[in-house]
Amino acid sequence: MPRKKEVVSGNFVKYDAVVLGSGPAGEGAAMKLAKSGKRVAIVDIREQLGGNCTHVGTIPSKALRQTVSSIIRYQRDPMFKKVGDWKQFTMKQVLRNAHKVIQQQVDTHSRFYDRNNIDVFHGRAYIQDKNTVIIFSEDGIKETLGFKQLVVATGSRPYHPQGLDFNHPRVFDSDKILDLDFTIHKIIIYGAGVIGCEYASIFIGLDHKVDLINTQHQLLSYLDDEIADALSYHLREQGVLIRHNEQIDHLETFDDHVVLYLQSGKKIKADAILWCNGRSGNTDGMGLENVGLTPNSRGQLAVNDQYQTEVENVYAAGDVVGWPSLASAAYDQGRCAGSNMAGEKDVKPVKDIPTGIYTIPEISFFGKTESQLTEEKIPYEVGQASFRHLARAQITGDTVGELKILFHRDTLELLGVHCFGNNAAEIIHIGQAVMQSGNNTIKYFVETTFNYPTMAEAYRVATLNGMNRLF
Ligand SMILES: Cc1cc2nc3c(=O)[nH]c(=O)nc-3n(C[C@H](O)[C@H](O)[C@H](O)COP(=O)(O)OP(=O)(O)OC[C@H]3O[C@@H](n4cnc5c(N)ncnc54)[C@H](O)[C@@H]3O)c2cc1C
Repeated sequence: MPRKKEVVSGNFVKYDAVVLGSGPAGEGAAMKLAKSGKRVAIVDIREQLGGNCTHVGTIPSKALRQTVSSIIRYQRDPMFKKVGDWKQFTMKQVLRNAHKVIQQQVDTHSRFYDRNNIDVFHGRAYIQDKNTVIIFSEDGIKETLGFKQLVVATGSRPYHPQGLDFNHPRVFDSDKILDLDFTIHKIIIYGAGVIGCEYASIFIGLDHKVDLINTQHQLLSYLDDEIADALSYHLREQGVLIRHNEQIDHLETFDDHVVLYLQSGKKIKADAILWCNGRSGNTDGMGLENVGLTPNSRGQLAVNDQYQTEVENVYAAGDVVGWPSLASAAYDQGRCAGSNMAGEKDVKPVKDIPTGIYTIPEISFFGKTESQLTEEKIPYEVGQASFRHLARAQITGDTVGELKILFHRDTLELLGVHCFGNNAAEIIHIGQAVMQSGNNTIKYFVETTFNYPTMAEAYRVATLNGMNRLF
């Protein structure tokens, strides 16, 4: 049973800590604080918990991507082809599965708050002063909460440039695309960051035409060059038209199509446009000025290594503090903030994080790239394992992909792990675990017996491949 709220006077409730936002950062902080014996409340605008991560970000996009992968797998498998004809699925059809997963996630996370006696409030939070937050419902003031400490974990939203009308039915951002309810054949995706590339995979997988407009000269330039090249190659091979180094001039909207004019003089017609260029922190209109905090031009708050803002009793975590703007890190940042707030000593801030990109094929890496090691003049060697030679990949049919390990040629220390192909985001964690352990040389992969057949075998194959290069 949830603990009863302590009502101090009227509708004023006092807490040790109030957390604003129930995404992964808010949840991480709230759970840690509750486990440390603090009286905690969490506030979210939505009627359901889980944050943007669950409702419009990580979860729906990954559920969508999974359904599209299954469709692709079904359609390429000659055995299934005999069973049924090739079918085209619409975005609306595949979204049904995503909505089911969202509800399952909401239910799971809601139980965590119940179990940990965390009071949940729904409404827009406004910080009145250093110890008071007001929660507004749509029809006026709802509740006033007192706090000793505050966590701002209000996340981020898609950036909307001036001049684009996101109320037009054919102009989408990554939140609105989940409500797409009409059939399209061609879409322009503006912005080729992680979200743009992931949605390019989803739409091309549904057999739509995709123009991916990249404002940079290559896709995801922080990736190892070989992996970025592989991503470009496979997206193009599937039919995505990638246009690099382009900038929007303006967009014309019509009842049944849009036309994008680029500064280079090109014009592109499509059924719809999905804008994936940048995100802003959710900090406006929430009274931060009342405690003396000013977000930067992207709406983000500055924090120190403890996730504490310039105001002693106000902490912030997740997308609202900027880097790395990932759900994976947001949870740990929130937890870290909670630990510091509870007075724990020597809490390490979130630093070394893996990158997982759920394009088709999937991409993941941890550690350094070849360019970084070359620039740092570290004598490294490369070990490669192509998925097409692995028994497990041949069995599952997931033969597109590669694991590449980078290691010091003298000490054999593992320096970087880069993978593309199905389940890359899972496979990478073996390399990450080894890199962060006391036994961080590639000898681990040849002195340890792994299950067979597995994709993990790629580590052994890549190690042997790399060792053959040593002399
Ligand atoms: C399409 C897409 C795909 C993504 N895929 C991945 C992925 O595969 N892996 C990954 O790690 N990350 C992914 N991300 C990023 C990930 O979703 C975010 O990093 C994560 O959601 C950030 O969590 P958060 O807790 O900071 O905030 P959020 O999840 O943004 O939640 C913040 C909550 O605070 C609420 N809020 C805002 N203002 C107020 C207020 N004034 N009062 C009360 N409540 C308020 C919001 O309504 C929201 O519910 C993706 C993002 C997008 C958009």
